[in-house]
Amino acid sequence: MSFKEFHIIGAGAGGLSLALMLQKSGHKVTIYEAHSIPGGCASWYQRGPYRFDVGATTLSGMINNGPLQQFLDEQEIKLEMRHVDPGLVVHFNRGQLKRVSDNKLWIEQLDHFFPNAHHQQTWNHILEDAEKCWSILNDVKNFPPRNIHDLLQQLDFSLFEKVKLLPLLVKSFESYTNKYLSDPELKRIIDQLLLISTQSTSDDVAALVGILGAHYPLDTWYPLGGIGTFSETLASTFTQRGGDIKYSKKLIGIEQSGKDYLLHFKDQKISAENVVVNIPVWNLVSLCQGKMKSSFEKTSQRAGEAWGAMTCYGVVKPNEPIEALYHQVHDQKDSSLFFSFSDKNDHIRSPFGEQVFSVSTHIKIQNMSNKKMDKESYLNEKKIFQERVEQALKTKMGIDHFKIDSVGTPQTFERFTKRHNGWVGGIPHRMSLPLWDYPAAQTPFKNFWRVGDTVFPGQGIVGVISGAKILYQMIR
Ligand SMILES: Cc1cc2nc3c(=O)[nH]c(=O)nc-3n(C[C@H](O)[C@H](O)[C@H](O)COP(=O)(O)OP(=O)(O)OC[C@H]3O[C@@H](n4cnc5c(N)ncnc54)[C@H](O)[C@@H]3O)c2cc1C
Repeated sequence: MSFKEFHIIGAGAGGLSLALMLQKSGHKVTIYEAHSIPGGCASWYQRGPYRFDVGATTLSGMINNGPLQQFLDEQEIKLEMRHVDPGLVVHFNRGQLKRVSDNKLWIEQLDHFFPNAHHQQTWNHILEDAEKCWSILNDVKNFPPRNIHDLLQQLDFSLFEKVKLLPLLVKSFESYTNKYLSDPELKRIIDQLLLISTQSTSDDVAALVGILGAHYPLDTWYPLGGIGTFSETLASTFTQRGGDIKYSKKLIGIEQSGKDYLLHFKDQKISAENVVVNIPVWNLVSLCQGKMKSSFEKTSQRAGEAWGAMTCYGVVKPNEPIEALYHQVHDQKDSSLFFSFSDKNDHIRSPFGEQVFSVSTHIKIQNMSNKKMDKESYLNEKKIFQERVEQALKTKMGIDHFKIDSVGTPQTFERFTKRHNGWVGGIPHRMSLPLWDYPAAQTPFKNFWRVGDTVFPGQGIVGVISGAKILYQMIR
């Protein structure tokens, strides 16, 4: 094997995981990160004794030797994590639904709230297919295929075996469940769940993706120290093994120069033969010129728009410690609040007797664009969101002792992660964007690749790490 030098832009989950894989194979890797700390959407901030996760809060892909477990084992990285069961508590009109891993208990609750629906049969089916879908993801070497060679590589025996899952790519999750979601309240519960895991809803997400998304709360893990510790651990492992992360180093332009690329930073230009960008596909348009710009323009137009997030961070002092860490409060039609609490014993994040929390909800960016909104209206939007969170804490969760630390908006994400328009969470899955049209790690430009949540399979940290592995297998 000939060793190469790779330049990675961005120290998010995608850039860091790929950097570790390449480094382990002996390649020289340098990461350039605009922020002063790693993690991107899986980052944190510290205020006094409190450590708040800014975006992602949960890990998944651990059960049945899932992609995250495999990655950590291959990298010999030890992370302290707690399996959270129930993985989600849903507060809705009719009561509380706990997504526990005990299938019998789960079905009993569904039967109680939604009698006369074929719960057992549907969830058994979802569980069985979820296992097969994960193993397909593990087998994928280069997706979407770009040429005959790629296609032939995919057609190994195990994929033939699973070929009967292919219809799941072309039917929606709603039709896969065969009238199961005819109760609008049950559909709302599944839709709000899929919104977190696939950025889409049951009628517009391919069954294969929906199955993985519906299955996700069974595989929910809390990393000790929060998600920030996860990102910090990846970054420190990389640097301890000799890798270089250049922080506060924002890429401002990319230019083709012969067979190399010229990376423009404020204070420096670097000539690079092998480049991987861990930034969303939309961001590439403004960084490039000429052929690269028009190519990325097309990709980002196909990708369409994504969601923004409103977030809120605070501290609770509950009478009894909060044991179930993840809650979804359905307080508005077609919208919900996702609460993540720190573990009561996680004193990296808060002193004894207190627990920190992060709340997020999806919003359409056009509802809140700083380019159009004056300061007063912007502050008012933040106030309204804070009141919504306070109301949910008091009335839905029975928590009276809390302190709000701050409220985040799409503008906050744009500022700290540089993501175009503050769009987060990846490209929403939709039937009009089949998986083979999803942006791939490979670009039309030689030795110029992409990684991250806007690249296949790209949803959440586990999707980003799976994408990094697919890319690594192509370029190692
Ligand atoms: C509110 C919220 C909650 C979420 N919850 C979960 C969850 O619980 N579990 C889960 O798995 N996922 C969750 N996600 C999704 C998950 O956080 C992301 O999909 C994932 O972290 C994205 O990683 P990435 O590497 O693709 O990109 P990013 O995290 O965006 O990282 C890209 C990095 O590149 C840097 N960068 C950008 N532009 C430049 C530039 N020009 N020059 C240099 N550096 C640059 C950024 O600063 C950033 O560090 C959540 C996301 C949000 C917003």
